[in-house]
Amino acid sequence: MSARKDPDEIDLDSPLERAIGGASAKLMAKMDLHTVGDLVRHYPRRYVARGSLTDIAGLEIGEQATLVARIDKVSTRQMRTRRGSLMNVTLVDSKGRTLDCTFFNAHKLKGMIEVGKTMIFSGKVGTYRKGNEVVLQLTHPEFEPLDDGDGIRPFISVYPAKKGVDSWKIARCARGALDVLDDPTDPLPEEIRRAERLPELGRALRRIHVPETEADYHAARARLVWDEAFGVQLALALRREKALERPAAASPHRPGGLLDAFDAVLPFPLTNGQKSVGAEIAEDLAHELPMNRLVQGDVGAGKTIVALRAMLQVVDSGRQAAMLAPTEVLASQHARSLRAMLGPIGRGGELDAAENSTKITLLTGSMTTAEKRQALLDTQSGEAGIVVGTHALIQDTVGFADLGLVVVDEQHRFGVEQRDALRGRGERTPHLLVMTATPIPRTVAMTVYGDLEISALTELPKGRSPIATTVVPAGEKPAWLARVWARVREEVAAGHQVYIVCPRVGGDTATGKKRAADPEDADLIDADDPDIGADSDDGSTRRPPLAVLDVAPGLSEGPLAGLRIGILHGKLPPEEKDAVMRAFERHELDVLVATTVIEVGVDVPNSTGIVILDADRFGLSQLHQLRGRVGRGSAPGVCLLVTDMPAGTTARERLDAIAGTTDGFELARLDLELRREGDVVGTTQSGRRSGLRLLSLVRHEKVIVSARDYAGKLLIEDPGLERHPGLRALVEETVGEDQAEYLAKA
Ligand code: ADP
Ligand code: MG
Repeated sequence: MSARKDPDEIDLDSPLERAIGGASAKLMAKMDLHTVGDLVRHYPRRYVARGSLTDIAGLEIGEQATLVARIDKVSTRQMRTRRGSLMNVTLVDSKGRTLDCTFFNAHKLKGMIEVGKTMIFSGKVGTYRKGNEVVLQLTHPEFEPLDDGDGIRPFISVYPAKKGVDSWKIARCARGALDVLDDPTDPLPEEIRRAERLPELGRALRRIHVPETEADYHAARARLVWDEAFGVQLALALRREKALERPAAASPHRPGGLLDAFDAVLPFPLTNGQKSVGAEIAEDLAHELPMNRLVQGDVGAGKTIVALRAMLQVVDSGRQAAMLAPTEVLASQHARSLRAMLGPIGRGGELDAAENSTKITLLTGSMTTAEKRQALLDTQSGEAGIVVGTHALIQDTVGFADLGLVVVDEQHRFGVEQRDALRGRGERTPHLLVMTATPIPRTVAMTVYGDLEISALTELPKGRSPIATTVVPAGEKPAWLARVWARVREEVAAGHQVYIVCPRVGGDTATGKKRAADPEDADLIDADDPDIGADSDDGSTRRPPLAVLDVAPGLSEGPLAGLRIGILHGKLPPEEKDAVMRAFERHELDVLVATTVIEVGVDVPNSTGIVILDADRFGLSQLHQLRGRVGRGSAPGVCLLVTDMPAGTTARERLDAIAGTTDGFELARLDLELRREGDVVGTTQSGRRSGLRLLSLVRHEKVIVSARDYAGKLLIEDPGLERHPGLRALVEETVGEDQAEYLAKA
């Protein structure tokens, strides 16, 4: 950006070698830190006040731990089989908790490791058996005296480290780099910095590594968190700015049109939520500012009607609407239910159509070539007012006559980029309506999903039944499993239907975790997840997740013999999928053994039971979605979560959380907390390092909201950030070059 640059100056882009020398730079390269900026942005994980000790109780097995501890006991013994001696050392924290470690070559440590000394240790946390107990230990840790000749600082900064690159080595390199680095130009406008009482960037970067006081590192963190939030919000504001260059077509409500006709024949009153959200959408559609709205409503809240009413308003203006579903099953089900809801006004072009009618066209990959041709023709000619399909297909192949609205069902599967692609590159931007049953915290909607406005459908239609959820610990109480199947039979005997969900399709020869990921087994909790792995005490690998193709025959020959059982999964040919789904809808099947293909949108009100096998293998939101498949009619629903995870494990806690609440919003929060932040923000596709290191969507809501305000105001004064090159760089640093480039494109 700047043309002249002093060649001797060291800035954030300088290679580390120039700042800290070749040997240290090589070491830092092992941490994937290559420039001064990389290192300076590698912030400490925490701080230990000098004089205090690290809490040993907080250590986790398998982690590379760095801790400040006092040496409580030392004993040395000769090794029997080899020359040399072993030193056994017991470390202690301020609460008296102890941790054992062992060193080889004890004679070399004389004078360094002594009882009473406090030092900083680093090593992998493991366990060993001491009598009957399993105790923690650090194996052959590295250690370092606290006074490292660099003056005594009040805090020891503890860094994310790894074997061979200890925390104190990183600390030393970071200090070295900061010593020669000139303070970077602060990109943040002075007024904002003062108003928010944030320290300057240079100071914040120094103080986050080398704080003098507690207040220092809080202030430094606050500043750096703010920058991240601001970078994201500026990126989004730029995006909004661009959106205005391509307005939407205004489609105001047309009295006497299809929407009015539909409202007149609705068999039930709309809920208050449906009315108010409907009004918000109607207002948005009437304007040229492209709508970007998320309708969030728990499963069964009646989102489809909200979407249909929006589509009709657009069709009434002579434009088209597209409805995109994540799976073919769901797309064809949507098309069917929209046709059913609309009746004669949805049979445009047919003999029994109402005078004023539109045509609903289905478009999926599995249709015959002839069918597809016809569907594409209808879409291109504008004859089809409403086109329903899977999103990949519509995105790639379809030219609409005049697309006014895109409805995306079940957003959580689509990313921001995909969504932008859907909006096409035409002169006008279609309005966008996204529907999701997985509540998204506001901060996530504002950041990850790129600035969606949220409308919430909070109440369920009247006459809904409660769902009772029970965790069935099949491992501890095998008899309960028999009870599960008995329960399924009871539901069927009462004239109802039941889903049985397995985490896997099966039918493959490979087993266990080495099996290639199957796209239909989406979202499985990884068996290698340490949370889960740690629970198997003998370290043996778990059995592979249960599979539809194994479970279904077992049931029909065993505990569910005599019931009409169907199977549904993504590997079935599309016609067959459709046929199975229709058979289930028509109650020609009692039980459907399925994968998560039924997760979204499948609506069979007569289903009252769902049994989820290996429930611990699913994510929280996914379980909530699955559970929403029942209790859609007037009979109460039952959801049984079968697991062999033992009580007290994290996996069981998650299931108890699901059983404990049907509040989707609460569960979404829990899910967000359980997942790592990075997973949520979805580090750039290219795998490049994201600029988000400190920002937490859960903890920093206030900061995010305030950053959004400033970003909006700043762009009004300085469109495109022409006068703020530093902030442009911040955007790039925060959201990654790809995104920033995209935003810069005219
Ligand atoms: P979701 O929000 O999960 O997509 P749907 O739109 O599929 O829910 O609606 C679930 C069921 O509730 C459908 O059978 C639908 O016809 C029905 N429904 C929607 N709105 C109402 C209402 N206001 N009163 C009664 N039933 C309704
Ligand atoms: Mg739905």
